[in-house]
Amino acid sequence: MPTTAQATVTVIGLGPMGRALAGTLIKADETVAVWNRTPGTASPLLERGAQWANSPAEAIAASPVTLINVVDHDAVDQILSSAESVVEGRSIIGLTSDTPERARHTARLVADRGGRYLDGAIMTPAYTIGTPSASILLSGPRELFAEHQALIEHLATPTWLDDEPGRAAAHDVALLDLFWSTISGFLHATALARAEGISPTAFVPFAHGIREILPAIFDGFAERAEQNRHDDPVSMIRSIRASLAHLISATHDRGLDAAALEAMRGYLDRAERAGHGEDEVTRILETMSRG
Ligand code: NDP
Repeated sequence: MPTTAQATVTVIGLGPMGRALAGTLIKADETVAVWNRTPGTASPLLERGAQWANSPAEAIAASPVTLINVVDHDAVDQILSSAESVVEGRSIIGLTSDTPERARHTARLVADRGGRYLDGAIMTPAYTIGTPSASILLSGPRELFAEHQALIEHLATPTWLDDEPGRAAAHDVALLDLFWSTISGFLHATALARAEGISPTAFVPFAHGIREILPAIFDGFAERAEQNRHDDPVSMIRSIRASLAHLISATHDRGLDAAALEAMRGYLDRAERAGHGEDEVTRILETMSRG
């Protein structure tokens, strides 16, 4: 494998996403150093001019700015810890998805070694990287973002959020919560419809009808949440609870699991027991916490 020369950017982690990042940077005429735990993955990139580094330390030393894109922040922190003092004076851009706490921990680890850290959450699939539809949310020092903005723009449309390093990961986990809850809801509804003899393709146009009313509901509920205002409801907790009870019965009648619906009923029950049965459903923001 070629030995490391001075590069303009380093990419650590060459899974599907890391390969897309490194390949896009090569296409943008950057001089790219790469390291991956399994070296063989790097071969197609090396053929395109990437420079192989023999260790994370060598990779970070090869350029002023390193993008780290691996499976989770345990791996990120192992990589950074093994690089020791090489991190000093360099920029690290973490593009690995994990919790906000893990992002903050990595930011401290980099700062303790004299480096500067920007955390990023990649919001779109690997195949979008290098196109305008790719999106990366970033948090960490604004001047560090400004310094590397042009580099990041080769990869995606960046949105800087805040100096607080956990902010990008906080958006990421909240948006993934929305995404997977929605997918789970759609698939559960499809299973219930199918159990009642409605084919999935006949059902989906009606599901789109629900999707179309959601943007206005999101906006109205966000405003209520912001103002902590739950009075004057469009539909009361008490009546939603009754309709949810029918829905759970229909689900059980068809032998389907109703755990997600039962969880929602639990939030509504707690709100009603606390005397909020006549409030808007947004009141359950207060009854979702554990314990
Ligand atoms: P993975 O999440 O499967 O990560 C694979 C990479 O992590 C490989 O380079 C792998 O090395 C490396 N890795 C795993 N464990 C370790 C370890 N202990 N030490 C060092 N390296 C390790 O694949 P992706 O490329 O898909 O994702 C990378 C990140 O990008 C994730 O955080 C993911 O959530 C995020 N992301 C990915 C998207 C996508 O479309 N793929 C979309 C948006 C975000 P090895 O090759 O040796 O196994």
